[in-house]
Amino acid sequence: MTTTAVWDELLAGDELAYLTTESAREARTSPLPDSLQPAVREALARRGIHELYAHQAAAYAAAQGGGNLIVTTGTASGKTLAFNLPVLDALAADRHARALYLYPTKALAQDQARSLGDLGIAAARAAIYDGDTPTERRRQIRGWANLVLTNPDMLHIGVLPRHDLWGDFLHNLRFVVVDEAHVYRGVFGSHVANVLRRLRRLARIYGSEPQFLLASATIANAGELACALTGEEATVVEDDAAPRAERTIALWNPPLLDAELGLRASALGEASRLLAGLVGRGQRTICFAKSRKSAELIHRFASDRLDAATAHRLAPYRAGYTPQQRREIERRLVEGDLLGVASTDALELGIDIGDLDCAISVGFPGTVASLRQQWGRAGRREHGLAILIASEDALDQYFMREPPTLLERRVEAAILDHANPRVLDGHVAAAAFEAPIDDGDIATLGPEALERAPHVPELRQTARGWVWAGKDAPAARIPLRSTSPDSFLVVDASTGDVLGLAELERAYSTVHEGAVYLHLGRQYLVRELDLVARRALVEPFEGDWYTQAKKETETSIEEPLRVERRLGLELSFGRVSVTEQVVAYQKKAVADGSTLDTVPLDLPPTTFDTEAAWFVPRPHQLEGLEAMPLLLSSLHAAEHSLIALLPLWAMCDRWDIGGLSTNLHLDTRAPTVFVYDGHAGGVGIAERGFDQFEGWVADTVTLLEGCPCERGCPSCVQSPKCGNLNEFLDKAGALTLLTRMSNSG
Ligand SMILES: [Zn+2]
Ligand SMILES: [Zn+2]
Repeated sequence: MTTTAVWDELLAGDELAYLTTESAREARTSPLPDSLQPAVREALARRGIHELYAHQAAAYAAAQGGGNLIVTTGTASGKTLAFNLPVLDALAADRHARALYLYPTKALAQDQARSLGDLGIAAARAAIYDGDTPTERRRQIRGWANLVLTNPDMLHIGVLPRHDLWGDFLHNLRFVVVDEAHVYRGVFGSHVANVLRRLRRLARIYGSEPQFLLASATIANAGELACALTGEEATVVEDDAAPRAERTIALWNPPLLDAELGLRASALGEASRLLAGLVGRGQRTICFAKSRKSAELIHRFASDRLDAATAHRLAPYRAGYTPQQRREIERRLVEGDLLGVASTDALELGIDIGDLDCAISVGFPGTVASLRQQWGRAGRREHGLAILIASEDALDQYFMREPPTLLERRVEAAILDHANPRVLDGHVAAAAFEAPIDDGDIATLGPEALERAPHVPELRQTARGWVWAGKDAPAARIPLRSTSPDSFLVVDASTGDVLGLAELERAYSTVHEGAVYLHLGRQYLVRELDLVARRALVEPFEGDWYTQAKKETETSIEEPLRVERRLGLELSFGRVSVTEQVVAYQKKAVADGSTLDTVPLDLPPTTFDTEAAWFVPRPHQLEGLEAMPLLLSSLHAAEHSLIALLPLWAMCDRWDIGGLSTNLHLDTRAPTVFVYDGHAGGVGIAERGFDQFEGWVADTVTLLEGCPCERGCPSCVQSPKCGNLNEFLDKAGALTLLTRMSNSG
């Protein structure tokens, strides 16, 4: 069926790379379970809920069966009710039962507390327990609440080390809900996986075996993620039975200005044109940009295209707003007074702005899950339009040419590694502080924890097991978002606020003096990097350039762990040591990426251990490419394009990955390409690349074959984080090598 839509004319143009319509879908429902407590049944009836979606009923049944589960259905499919139902049912049936809800952010916990309150089930006494909870309230909550909402950080430093205060709660703990579980990946996920194991252990000590109910965006490996996070198996509920309105999806590629150089028109310009066009047609539209600066520019350009009265119905929206300002914008949107909002993707998590007609994503937001969440704002009830405007980035351009990899293929997998010693050791210490560790804890903490115990300083072996012999509580020293305890604090000098942490191995390249640092979509300029105090002082920055560090990198192979014959060559995975020295940085114009200035830096080298996948091409695969510098340029270009596409297979940011290519490596004594985890110890990203090598290389061949540029461009072999500032890159050589590899498979 084809219908004409109000936006048809706007979407006619060469920029339209792909157009498809996801058809509307009827709900598949199940009756409310007979065993449901009357109080819960009545609360649902008051909300007009007399039946469940089939997946909600499946989740309820799985939870009744006593096991763990992970619900991984689409955006706005009623995942919340899927885990709330078994919990509320248990709380209504047993006044002693307790439940713990974990949210990655305070704002999401508040949203959930509000919706639980709206249900009005007297038996559910929900309370938020986080860093903002006043001390005098905390004790009361511990005694009164049977449903506690918190975040992993609070659980880690505020609850588990003080488990004596939570004895009653832990003894009666029936359910642990982990919402937005796909957020717990990489370094953060590896830490949270240990926090959850510590929770399981303490619960067991207090006599309970809680069930874990997880909810995640749709990912390729939901069951694996649940198991990696909790250490236990989980039933996967993924058959989405929620109704869906028809949704048109458009992939939009800014016009090619210079085919030879691969230069495209600005995505921001295209975004403002589409935003203005849709708003001008009366469509309520949200436009997501990666930075506040971009969102503001889109807002300004779109306003310029509209008459004054319509322009007045546009607003920018960003993370820095107070809750009152946010609610004001949300209210104006819901009431239809506002038609268009340009936002940073900080909005993406949770905050409810009602049903809109169109959603525009400017640049791929890094994961398909995030993109689907942004698109999920559009057309929940009526025919909606979702648009991805490509940036020049290689992955964006790949999606423009290979839409099924974005829209149909579910490959992106959330990865974490709780056993990374850089992550695990701190939690072994924290667990020993909480209670002596012995072999009985293998069941909850895992065998790796017992193996690490002798290596953790300040642990002492006693007759009761490994005990903490230090003075202070170790958990407070372990930030959940870093693998190195000696990270740099990033401090806003104008307010004194701590914005975040930069891990030592990345601090010199991201927060060196003069670097432009992005936080929650906002730009800051680094004024000073104090190497002794490990602190970067930054200030808000309005300039229109960004910075790229020039660095020298070396790797040495510490220990190959897996070596296999793959694609006609020797592919290895193992532990490596990476030494980097940042020697300069370039200022580059936001508008066109041109270099404005190169500034030398005097910084010490840093060395860190991590995991890598590496390969040594066979001589016949390099035939004709042996001469220098062609050999190096071919390997270097292959490394860049491989790194650009790894996020398709392992849910990560290309900034989480590093690479090195050399015509002669000291350890292999041959031309070698390395792709390594950018976080000390590694979090499983490189190993995923090793496991999926054939698919990964095949995708990369497709990328290079399809890019219209002549000799390499930002959309194929150039990398925004290249330490060599994109010198020595040969696209044709890389394509020759990777094609020969692919054909050997
Ligand atoms: Zn290209
Ligand atoms: Zn490079």
